Amino acid sequence: MTTSSQVPLRCYDCGCTYDHGDRTRCSCGEPLWFDLDTSGFEWPTETARATGRDQTTTGIWRYDTVLPVSAPDTTTLPPGSTPLVRAGALDSFAGCELHLKPEGQNPTGSFKDRGTAVGVAHTLDTGADWIGTVSHGNMALSTSAYAAAAGLECAVFVPADIPPERLDLLARHDPHIFRVEGDYGRLYEETLALDTDGDAGITFVNSDTPLRVAGQKTIAYELLEQFRLESPNAPSSSTASIAPDAIVLPVSSGGQASGVWKALRELTRSGVLAADDVPRLYFVQAGPCDPIATAFREGREEVTPIDADETIAVSIANSDPPSGTRALTAARDTEGAVVAVPDEATREAMDRLATDVGLAVEPSSAVALAGVRKLSDRGEIAADESVVTILTGSGYKESVETEPQSRHIDLADLEHELASVVGS
Ligand SMILES: *Cc1c(COP(=O)(O)O)cnc(C)c1O
Ligand SMILES: [Zn+2]
Repeated sequence: MTTSSQVPLRCYDCGCTYDHGDRTRCSCGEPLWFDLDTSGFEWPTETARATGRDQTTTGIWRYDTVLPVSAPDTTTLPPGSTPLVRAGALDSFAGCELHLKPEGQNPTGSFKDRGTAVGVAHTLDTGADWIGTVSHGNMALSTSAYAAAAGLECAVFVPADIPPERLDLLARHDPHIFRVEGDYGRLYEETLALDTDGDAGITFVNSDTPLRVAGQKTIAYELLEQFRLESPNAPSSSTASIAPDAIVLPVSSGGQASGVWKALRELTRSGVLAADDVPRLYFVQAGPCDPIATAFREGREEVTPIDADETIAVSIANSDPPSGTRALTAARDTEGAVVAVPDEATREAMDRLATDVGLAVEPSSAVALAGVRKLSDRGEIAADESVVTILTGSGYKESVETEPQSRHIDLADLEHELASVVGS
């Protein structure tokens, strides 16, 4: 069995390696990821395909040969196995052949569950009792729920002025909630500087830490396997590949973007994905907070912090993204791009997803579809190209300010009222 403590960490930029547990960032300043030998990877065979009953082979654990940890025996809430759906009704809006990956279908409603599950498995391996994270949104909720499922104590650090509705969602899983006064932005570093595996007795699984990125790379393994199987002319050979032309996702810290890029690199190295078939990676930010898109637009080598404005896309409002430069590199390496969209475009995309294909997503997910539309308008994505858009989180957690349309009727007038609309 592989455990994360035996797998070294590597810097994507300068190639330096370190033992896991020592640090999460390279001495050059860039984030590290696990350097597991995945060169022998093959798609799992049909017979190995989980029936859904065995939780240790379902979801992300289907790809456990490329993960730095194994599924814990007690695993509940297996994340992953979200569907890949063809959304033809939105093709003309998107300007391409659109496929959607609704990650809101994960147990706590976002892709964060993939990384959390790996962090929890590692924490159980080390024998520590505590897991922690710095978040006041999906990552905090995910970590709290998975810690509860695994019998771990959970520490979440939220800003002192967190809205009560959010506190309420978190409190359901009974984590230890610390409302922090002071510069919330500095907590990311300060928590990681605590000894993660040893003396402090707590593993921090922040937005782009190696454990989280390892879990989050499974989204790309999964969608490429699904795309290949669902493709009408799917090859019978398990090594031939049919891949989408592009993958589009929202980006904040750059953790998920890094995971997707890592998966593409691993799949190419193992020969499962031909170098010519590597999808272009496009990352989308909200216009009011777009440090990575700004660096891309300006042709810079590095992402630097910006002064951001408020956006409706609250889950991706990070003005100083810890894996920003890594995401920038991923977009360039795959011949993709990083773009920003205004909040109005995000609202429109969110409405179209809800009314045309029945998917309620949060604004931070809708930015990806708004980004696809922008990229096809600019001619960077062609009408006959297939594009997978990752819908990162559910829209059922918070309300969006709109004026709902409804009619008041009297019970006595039911038949007449209904006839007036149904017949019209
Ligand atoms: C966390 C999150 C993102 C951004 O992911 P990063 O890994 O921080 O770039 C996007 N959408 C939703 C819904 C999220 O919760
Ligand atoms: Zn380095």
